[in-house]
Amino acid sequence: MENKIKISCQNCSKLLAVPKGFSGKIACVQCHQVMDVDEVWPAEDWMEKRLKSIDEGIREISSAIWMVFFFLPIFIGVIIALLLI
Ligand SMILES: [Zn+2]
Repeated sequence: MENKIKISCQNCSKLLAVPKGFSGKIACVQCHQVMDVDEVWPAEDWMEKRLKSIDEGIREISSAIWMVFFFLPIFIGVIIALLLI
């Protein structure tokens, strides 16, 4: 995957290569305009992060559902067994 992403200069629109995740000040190579850069992440990376966290959430929910459907019948079974004794 590419380690640099391109942002355009606020002044002259020149495309500047900035390291991924960089935040701080950069100076444009063409017009020398200094600008603040917030953490730069390409859109796909952001999406990927988002999808990953959603995926983890789903996995947590499905394991919770699994717990309920697997252990609850056993638990109820034990109670019924105890009541029948
Ligand atoms: Zn510029």
